[in-house]
Amino acid sequence: MIFPFAVNPQNEDERFMLEALKEAWKAFKEEEVPVGAVLVKDKRIIARGHNQVEMLKDATAHAEMLCLTAGANAVDNWRLAHTTLYCTIEPCSMCAGAMLLTRLPKLVWGAPDVRHGANGSWIDLFEPTHPTHALEVQKGVLEGYCSQLMKEFFQIQRQKKVAKKRGNHESVGDDFLG
Ligand SMILES: [Zn+2]
Repeated sequence: MIFPFAVNPQNEDERFMLEALKEAWKAFKEEEVPVGAVLVKDKRIIARGHNQVEMLKDATAHAEMLCLTAGANAVDNWRLAHTTLYCTIEPCSMCAGAMLLTRLPKLVWGAPDVRHGANGSWIDLFEPTHPTHALEVQKGVLEGYCSQLMKEFFQIQRQKKVAKKRGNHESVGDDFLG
Protein backbone atom coordinates (compact mmCIF):
# COMPACT_ATOMS: atom_id res chain seq x y z
CA MET A 1 0.00 0.00 0.00
CA ILE A 2 0.99 3.57 -0.35
CA PHE A 3 1.50 4.88 3.09
CA PRO A 4 0.62 8.50 3.87
CA PHE A 5 4.16 9.59 4.56
CA ALA A 6 3.67 11.67 1.45
CA VAL A 7 1.12 13.72 3.37
CA ASN A 8 2.00 17.36 3.49
CA PRO A 9 0.63 18.57 6.84
CA GLN A 10 -1.29 21.82 6.54
CA ASN A 11 -1.29 22.77 10.21
CA GLU A 12 0.00 21.76 13.62
CA ASP A 13 -2.75 19.21 14.27
CA GLU A 14 -2.02 17.46 10.99
CA ARG A 15 1.70 17.56 11.69
CA PHE A 16 1.28 15.71 14.99
CA MET A 17 -1.37 13.38 13.59
CA LEU A 18 1.12 12.37 10.94
CA GLU A 19 3.47 11.39 13.76
CA ALA A 20 0.66 9.31 15.30
CA LEU A 21 0.17 7.72 11.88
CA LYS A 22 3.85 6.78 11.84
CA GLU A 23 3.24 4.96 15.11
CA ALA A 24 0.21 3.24 13.58
CA TRP A 25 2.42 2.19 10.68
CA LYS A 26 4.80 0.50 13.13
CA ALA A 27 1.85 -1.50 14.45
CA PHE A 28 0.78 -2.33 10.89
CA LYS A 29 4.21 -3.74 10.11
CA GLU A 30 4.12 -5.80 13.30
CA GLU A 31 0.73 -7.19 12.23
CA GLU A 32 -1.03 -5.40 15.04
CA VAL A 33 -4.23 -3.43 14.50
CA PRO A 34 -2.72 -0.17 13.21
CA VAL A 35 -3.45 2.44 15.85
CA GLY A 36 -0.88 5.01 16.92
CA ALA A 37 -0.66 7.88 19.39
CA VAL A 38 1.67 10.69 20.38
CA LEU A 39 1.53 13.00 23.37
CA VAL A 40 2.51 16.62 22.83
CA LYS A 41 3.56 19.23 25.35
CA ASP A 42 4.83 22.72 24.49
CA LYS A 43 4.75 21.78 20.81
CA ARG A 44 7.08 18.83 21.41
CA ILE A 45 6.34 15.12 21.33
CA ILE A 46 7.07 13.75 24.80
CA ALA A 47 5.72 10.21 24.31
CA ARG A 48 4.73 7.78 21.58
CA GLY A 49 2.80 4.55 21.48
CA HIS A 50 1.48 1.99 19.06
CA ASN A 51 -0.87 -0.90 19.56
CA GLN A 52 0.96 -3.96 20.98
CA VAL A 53 -1.93 -6.19 22.04
CA GLU A 54 -0.69 -9.23 20.11
CA MET A 55 2.96 -8.93 21.01
CA LEU A 56 2.34 -8.36 24.71
CA LYS A 57 -0.71 -10.68 24.72
CA ASP A 58 -2.48 -7.95 26.63
CA ALA A 59 -5.86 -6.57 25.64
CA THR A 60 -5.03 -3.33 27.45
CA ALA A 61 -1.87 -2.61 25.43
CA HIS A 62 -3.58 -0.02 23.25
CA ALA A 63 -1.55 2.75 21.64
CA GLU A 64 -3.19 5.39 23.82
CA MET A 65 -2.59 3.51 27.09
CA LEU A 66 1.08 2.94 26.29
CA CYS A 67 1.46 6.56 25.23
CA LEU A 68 -0.25 7.94 28.36
CA THR A 69 1.97 5.77 30.58
CA ALA A 70 5.10 6.85 28.70
CA GLY A 71 3.91 10.45 28.98
CA ALA A 72 3.46 10.16 32.75
CA ASN A 73 7.00 8.84 32.97
CA ALA A 74 8.27 11.70 30.82
CA VAL A 75 6.75 14.40 33.02
CA ASP A 76 7.18 12.35 36.19
CA ASN A 77 3.54 12.97 37.09
CA TRP A 78 0.34 11.00 36.56
CA ARG A 79 -1.44 14.28 35.81
CA LEU A 80 -0.81 15.11 32.18
CA ALA A 81 -1.34 18.85 32.49
CA HIS A 82 -0.87 21.07 29.41
CA THR A 83 -0.66 18.15 27.01
CA THR A 84 -2.51 17.10 23.87
CA LEU A 85 -2.93 13.47 22.86
CA TYR A 86 -3.11 12.70 19.15
CA CYS A 87 -4.46 9.30 18.22
CA THR A 88 -5.31 7.90 14.83
CA ILE A 89 -8.57 6.24 15.91
CA GLU A 90 -11.42 7.23 18.20
CA PRO A 91 -10.54 5.92 21.67
CA CYS A 92 -12.27 2.90 23.19
CA SER A 93 -13.97 3.07 26.60
CA MET A 94 -10.80 1.97 28.44
CA CYS A 95 -8.62 4.60 26.80
CA ALA A 96 -11.27 7.32 27.06
CA GLY A 97 -11.54 6.51 30.79
CA ALA A 98 -7.77 6.69 31.16
CA MET A 99 -7.77 10.09 29.46
CA LEU A 100 -10.16 11.41 32.10
CA LEU A 101 -8.10 9.88 34.91
CA THR A 102 -4.87 11.45 33.64
CA ARG A 103 -6.66 14.84 33.43
CA LEU A 104 -5.70 15.08 29.78
CA PRO A 105 -6.76 18.57 28.65
CA LYS A 106 -7.02 17.95 24.91
CA LEU A 107 -7.57 15.01 22.58
CA VAL A 108 -7.29 14.99 18.80
CA TRP A 109 -8.34 11.85 16.96
CA GLY A 110 -8.50 10.81 13.32
CA ALA A 111 -11.09 8.23 12.28
CA PRO A 112 -14.12 6.83 14.12
CA ASP A 113 -14.25 3.30 15.48
CA VAL A 114 -17.79 2.11 14.89
CA ARG A 115 -17.46 -0.95 17.11
CA HIS A 116 -15.57 0.30 20.14
CA GLY A 117 -15.47 4.07 19.82
CA ALA A 118 -16.27 5.76 23.12
CA ASN A 119 -16.52 9.29 21.83
CA GLY A 120 -19.79 9.00 19.99
CA SER A 121 -19.58 5.92 17.74
CA TRP A 122 -20.67 3.35 20.30
CA ILE A 123 -21.03 5.41 23.45
CA ASP A 124 -19.77 8.82 24.44
CA LEU A 125 -17.78 8.98 27.66
CA PHE A 126 -17.09 12.67 27.19
CA GLU A 127 -20.73 13.62 26.84
CA PRO A 128 -22.19 14.84 29.14
CA THR A 129 -19.10 16.64 30.30
CA HIS A 130 -17.38 15.04 33.27
CA PRO A 131 -18.30 16.85 36.52
CA THR A 132 -14.74 17.74 37.47
CA HIS A 133 -12.70 17.49 34.32
CA ALA A 134 -13.40 18.98 30.92
CA LEU A 135 -11.64 17.47 27.93
CA GLU A 136 -11.42 19.42 24.70
CA VAL A 137 -11.83 17.19 21.65
CA GLN A 138 -11.03 17.64 17.99
CA LYS A 139 -12.17 14.88 15.63
CA GLY A 140 -11.45 13.93 12.05
CA VAL A 141 -7.85 15.13 11.61
CA LEU A 142 -6.33 13.23 8.63
CA GLU A 143 -9.33 10.93 8.94
CA GLY A 144 -8.98 9.45 5.46
CA TYR A 145 -5.43 8.23 6.09
CA CYS A 146 -6.22 6.93 9.57
CA SER A 147 -9.17 4.87 8.34
CA GLN A 148 -7.42 3.76 5.14
CA LEU A 149 -4.65 2.16 7.17
CA MET A 150 -7.23 0.20 9.19
CA LYS A 151 -9.11 -0.87 6.07
CA GLU A 152 -5.93 -2.13 4.41
CA PHE A 153 -4.98 -4.00 7.55
CA PHE A 154 -8.29 -5.84 7.90
CA GLN A 155 -8.35 -6.56 4.19
CA ILE A 156 -4.97 -8.28 4.46
CA GLN A 157 -6.10 -10.19 7.55
CA ARG A 158 -9.16 -11.43 5.67
CA GLN A 159 -7.04 -12.50 2.71
CA LYS A 160 -4.77 -14.41 5.06
CA LYS A 161 -7.70 -16.18 6.63
CA VAL A 162 -9.03 -17.18 3.22
CA ALA A 163 -5.59 -18.41 2.14
CA LYS A 164 -5.28 -20.44 5.33
CA LYS A 165 -8.68 -22.03 4.80
CA ARG A 166 -7.62 -23.08 1.33
CA GLY A 167 -4.64 -24.79 2.85
CA ASN A 168 -2.30 -22.32 1.25
CA HIS A 169 0.13 -21.38 3.98
CA GLU A 170 2.04 -18.89 1.92
CA SER A 171 1.26 -15.65 3.58
CA VAL A 172 -0.73 -13.25 1.51
CA GLY A 173 0.12 -9.62 1.69
CA ASP A 174 3.71 -9.80 2.88
CA ASP A 175 4.51 -7.20 0.27
CA PHE A 176 2.70 -4.74 2.46
CA LEU A 177 4.58 -5.62 5.57
CA GLY A 178 8.07 -4.60 4.58
ZN1 LIG B 1 -8.33 1.78 23.65
